Formats: sequence, structure tokens, C-alpha cells
Amino acid sequence: MSIDLTKYIATVPDYPEPGVMFRDISPLMADGDAYRYATDQLVDYARSKNVEMIVGPEARGFIVGCPVAYELGVGFAPARKEGKLPRETVKATYDLEYGKSALYLHKDAIKPGQRVLVTDDLLATGGTISATIQLVEELGGIVVGTAFIIELKDLHGRDKIKDYDLFSLMEF
Ligand code: AMP
Repeated sequence: MSIDLTKYIATVPDYPEPGVMFRDISPLMADGDAYRYATDQLVDYARSKNVEMIVGPEARGFIVGCPVAYELGVGFAPARKEGKLPRETVKATYDLEYGKSALYLHKDAIKPGQRVLVTDDLLATGGTISATIQLVEELGGIVVGTAFIIELKDLHGRDKIKDYDLFSLMEF
């Protein structure tokens, strides 16, 4: 059975600010068949890369990565915003439209040489995923792939991570 997953993305114009077309994945997650269908394809991709660990940024990277980790029987490590991880961390900063933000990963989240898949719901400019990749690599992990539900082509995030394999379920 094939499902057209684009039907499960709600597009909200001018959210959270004028000019942004927000692509909301929550209708996809709310439908059991669609969520499973999306996850199954991400699992197939991860399997093809012999993934040993998954890392996703707060918060929708968890929604995408955790079911894949469960199905593969591998671990998941959350990349989180300031002040959320209780133990020693590494930090990566990245540019937002206005100002900067940072993501953190526990120092023991990745074993050196581990094959890591990085996941998020959506690739826009690529800043978030680049910071996540930087954290994994600082800990000696090998980023063997990046996986998203949605890629926004116009923002050219793909160019920012051109050295890495990229898989997405749909493009806008
Ligand atoms: P970026 O760092 O620019 O690639 O932005 C990706 C991150 O911001 C992801 O974690 C997305 O959840 C979120 N994001 C950016 N743009 C959008 C959008 N148009 N619709 C939904 N989420 C977005």
C-alpha cells in the first residue's frame, strides 16, 4: 500500500511570522497509517546505511528519529537547547534569521567511530542539521546520512550539507 504523505502536511501561511509558509507535520503524526508508512521508509534508508545510532534536534527531530531507532534496535540521543541536558555536553552554535542559537549533546552520547543517522522533520536553511552534525563529529561519530520528512528546496539547505547523504520523503 502506498500513501501520498503530502496530503498529511498542513501548510500554514505567515506562521510564525509574515512570509513563512509553515509545514506542519502533526496531521501526519496523528494518522497511524501515515506515521507508520513514513517511519518505514526512514527505517529502510537507515538500514541501507548500517546505522548504529540516531541523533535528532529538539523537538521534532525526536518524533522522526525515535521510532526509527526503536525499529532498528539502535540508540537515540537528543540534541537539545540550552539548559536541558543535565550532564557534561558539547555545544554547537548556528545562525537564525535574527541572531544565533545553540544545540548541545551529552559528551557520552556517541562512541567514536559509531555510524550515526541525523534526523529532523524538515530541512530549511540547513542550520539546525549542520549544528547537529557538528556535535556528532566533535564526539567522533561518523554521520552516514541525514533524513527528513520534508525538504524545502528554495532554501538550499542541501548545499550546506552537500558532503552528506540526504534522504527526504517529500519536497516543497
Ligand atoms: P533550518 O535550520 O533553517 O534548516 O530549519 C529547520 C528547523 O526549523 C527544523 O527543525 C524545522 O522544524 C524548523 N522549520 C524551519 N522552517 C520551517 C517551516 N517552513 N515549516 C516548519 N518548520 C520549519
